[in-house]
Amino acid sequence: MCKIIVMANQKGGVAKTSSTRNLAYSLAELGKKVLAVDFDPQTNLTISFGVAPAVLQETAASLMMKLVMDEALPEKGSCILNIGKVDLLPSKKTLTVAEVNLLIERKDDCLAKLLAPLRADYDYILVDTGPSLGSLTINAFTAADEIIIPVDPELFALVGLKELTETISKIKQNLNPKVEIIGIFFTKCSKRTVLYREISEQVCVTFGHLHIFESRIPTTIKVGAANSKGLSVMELDAKNEAAAAYMNLAKEVLAYA
Ligand code: ADP
Ligand code: MG
Repeated sequence: MCKIIVMANQKGGVAKTSSTRNLAYSLAELGKKVLAVDFDPQTNLTISFGVAPAVLQETAASLMMKLVMDEALPEKGSCILNIGKVDLLPSKKTLTVAEVNLLIERKDDCLAKLLAPLRADYDYILVDTGPSLGSLTINAFTAADEIIIPVDPELFALVGLKELTETISKIKQNLNPKVEIIGIFFTKCSKRTVLYREISEQVCVTFGHLHIFESRIPTTIKVGAANSKGLSVMELDAKNEAAAAYMNLAKEVLAYA
């Protein structure tokens, strides 16, 4: 049975995109059929797969516009790109136009409608979201079975986490009763620093009611280097610690089933 997992944290720079990229690859390495969905108008996920958004015709952006306007969708999967082991539903910066229209038309279930027919083709659909709790993220939460929250354990890590979890609770009450936060995991961990230890401890105490994944992704320039080459960190350097950490995270996600 397919699971739609949304990577969310309205704070920018916490490695949502890098984690979607590398978790998607790791799950595929473990034999799962995976679709990664770029649902951020910044299109970083699309770029991290080595795809230039400008050349694309149909993307998540155009499909969302069709859904907002109640127009028919093209044939299922027609704009999905196969990038090695992982499939990608790319995006374009015109997703911002869809974002405004979702807000005006008050539509929160368009992404759920877009992904529903694709469930039959995948074990996991991973959705990367942007740094806001706006109409795109609300659509993502409404489509989700599960939500994973990456946290960068630095000074302002706790700021916004309460708003995020409260927003998800409201979505669960009003729009999507099945949605669950499956857990928080730490990214960009500089394990030798005092700040890392203090903040990660603080997050664990404050959000002790949520599952905290064992896997912690270390800070390494290889993640950014892989993104810029259109690769996962495993493909760039299989022996890298972050590659191993993302593989472990994937195993933890599978175990959550
Ligand atoms: P978000 O999608 O949450 O905005 P990104 O995935 O774009 O975050 O990551 C933000 C920045 O942090 C990028 O420059 C990325 O290369 C870098 N980054 C992500 N993960 C790591 C890591 N484990 N170590 C070092 N830098 C990282
Ligand atoms: Mg991003």
